[in-house]
Amino acid sequence: MYRIGIDLGGTNIAGGLVGDDFKIITKASTPTGASRSSEEIAADIASLCRRLCGMSGIGLSDICAIGIAAPGIAESATGIVRYSCNLPFRNFPIADVIREATGVENVSIENDANAAAWGEAVAGAAKGTHNSVMITLGTGVGGGIIIDDKIYSGFNSAGAELGHMVIEYGGKRCSCGRRGCWEAYSSATAVVGMTRDKLAECDRDGRKTVLGELILKKGKISGVTAFDAMRLGDPAGKEIVDTYIGYLACGLTNIVNIFQPEVISLGGGVSNEGQSLVDAVLPIIRSEQYGGGIVAQTEIRIAELGNDAGIIGASALGI
Ligand SMILES: [Zn+2]
Repeated sequence: MYRIGIDLGGTNIAGGLVGDDFKIITKASTPTGASRSSEEIAADIASLCRRLCGMSGIGLSDICAIGIAAPGIAESATGIVRYSCNLPFRNFPIADVIREATGVENVSIENDANAAAWGEAVAGAAKGTHNSVMITLGTGVGGGIIIDDKIYSGFNSAGAELGHMVIEYGGKRCSCGRRGCWEAYSSATAVVGMTRDKLAECDRDGRKTVLGELILKKGKISGVTAFDAMRLGDPAGKEIVDTYIGYLACGLTNIVNIFQPEVISLGGGVSNEGQSLVDAVLPIIRSEQYGGGIVAQTEIRIAELGNDAGIIGASALGI
């Protein structure tokens, strides 16, 4: 039997036909057309499921489970998307609609960050563990929590918003409206902001830095600009990265103290920095965490599934 994982985004609906080993066999996608109705988008998800089967010469009767990862509040117990940012879904029974349209009985839904964490737990960086957390360092900071082999998202499916824990009371304004959230300091967007500020500071003080040159070469400031500058031996670049690492380690230490997971995996754009990112945060976490040196230690790993984490995690929801 095969599974289908759907990663529903604001721009594209990505789908994958997945084998029993949780490896993707075929992938396809279609534009979301987020200004359309929930019914139209759901119909496209069902078509995408048929297309994925057609591409592999199988039928929907060969599919044992369909999982959908959606942004916002996706209620796994009822299969209803309560709310979805940038999408029309409000209290929409998407699992029932897809079940009806495809004839596949086992249809599950989950929040996209939770599904990605589940993917890493089933087939990626946290494979073989029972308790793990995944953090996505992208436009925002996403979180997914796995406790005793189950996704934990609170009684109302709205939890695990780890990016919105405050690490600096009264600090920078976050996209959620609160001040001082981890997301405002540890997302890729936050590094870009820190890089912009540091460049302005250098200009003002007449300090030499390669930041301006790098930005000119790439045509824009990105999450890697500061890291590239640091690698070139630029002191201003190193200052940005050191500040960023401090904030990242602060949030990760909070997560270790609350959950003591076996593994925290780091995904999203900033995680492309790879093992050097882990090596930078780990000593800070070890020196600050509760119970350090006494009990077994949480491992910090780079996520392994990249952009496929949502598809693979969604496909594995119904197990
Ligand atoms: Zn926030």
